[in-house]
Amino acid sequence: MTTEEKRDTDQEPFGFDTLAVRAGQLRTAEGEHSEPIFTTSSFVFASAAEAAARFAGESPGNIYSRFTNPTVRMFEERLAALEGAEACVATASGMAAILSSCLALLRGGDHIVASRSLFGSTVSLFGNYLSRFGVETTFVALTDLSAWEAAIGPRTRMLFVETPSNPLTEVADIAALAALAHDRGCLLVVDNCFCTPALQRPLELGADLVVHSSTKYLDGQGRCVGGAVAGRRELTDEVFGFLRTAGPTMSPFNAWVFLKGLETLRLRMDAHSAAALSLAGWLEAQPRVARVHYPGLASHPQHGLAARQQRAFGGIISFEVEGGREAAWRLIDATRVLSITANLGDVKSTITHPATTTHARVSPEARAAAGIGEGLIRIAVGLEDLDDIKADLARGL
Ligand SMILES: *Cc1c(COP(=O)(O)O)cnc(C)c1O
Repeated sequence: MTTEEKRDTDQEPFGFDTLAVRAGQLRTAEGEHSEPIFTTSSFVFASAAEAAARFAGESPGNIYSRFTNPTVRMFEERLAALEGAEACVATASGMAAILSSCLALLRGGDHIVASRSLFGSTVSLFGNYLSRFGVETTFVALTDLSAWEAAIGPRTRMLFVETPSNPLTEVADIAALAALAHDRGCLLVVDNCFCTPALQRPLELGADLVVHSSTKYLDGQGRCVGGAVAGRRELTDEVFGFLRTAGPTMSPFNAWVFLKGLETLRLRMDAHSAAALSLAGWLEAQPRVARVHYPGLASHPQHGLAARQQRAFGGIISFEVEGGREAAWRLIDATRVLSITANLGDVKSTITHPATTTHARVSPEARAAAGIGEGLIRIAVGLEDLDDIKADLARGL
């Protein structure tokens, strides 16, 4: 069998939806319509000379799946096309994407400025692990541009932000942060997990790198753990260099799942967003609900910014119930449809109590300072009938 690969579609000038189902597809001589999964750890060469040329980087092609794999490459090229990135590197998890970006681009003595309201493991990675190797992080209030500016010092190399934030859905001004970063000789890295490129394209707003947990919306059905880094090739090449050496690469099977996930990404993100907008408005009208955090609501402090920066407002809502932890747990335990799990970005709606789960490791003082109260509940709105989700919550309210 010859393994000549045919490219189905080159990127430009196709629209987002075409790229989502076509970009990066390889077709073997078998003529398969759907993308194949290459479950092979290594690749063979036609001759000793070809092996030598491949190892020397003089001839393109695969060597070993810790380095490259055709199914993984299809996912990378498709996600790069959707993010408007020159290149993309897939990783074993979202945390592997963040770790690899930091270890590839930073060295001992460098400094990170990051938003305080980050994914819990990212806070721990920066605060407890990178610090051991002399990379210090200053955490600042996400929406306070002057705090970001004041925290930048002579050793600062990276600004790191997640927007909208988890769980309070605060929105950072990506273009303003990119301008600040570049003015001070730093890179801006954006965790685009909550919006995905279907709703927000940070690279177009000036960010240098986008990191993803593809575990969330890129998969969209909660099946696999994975991640990715996208941006200028000069930067992703550095990340790839680290990754192929250190090893947290994506498996071909997971890449295939994510590749198929990308095909329905925009449809799902639009549906998640529409359902969340409706649910957020409904929650705001409930007497036992003290406050609703959702960028699509006019009451959200960065509603205007979110409307400019995002194509829609996403699927994550958080809200505070009166009565603290007891009332919050009672509401969560009364649900029958929603899954009680910390995961998000799934067709199945999920509900979680951040103060005792995702943010339990954060000290009570830091939690209070971050605005994550005992009565706060986070919902990732799935694709069930909205009336069933409302009825589920109404039972607990
Ligand atoms: C889940 C998540 C991560 C980490 O991703 P994993 O795939 O679990 O390693 C990073 N950032 C955000 C915003 C997340 O939600």
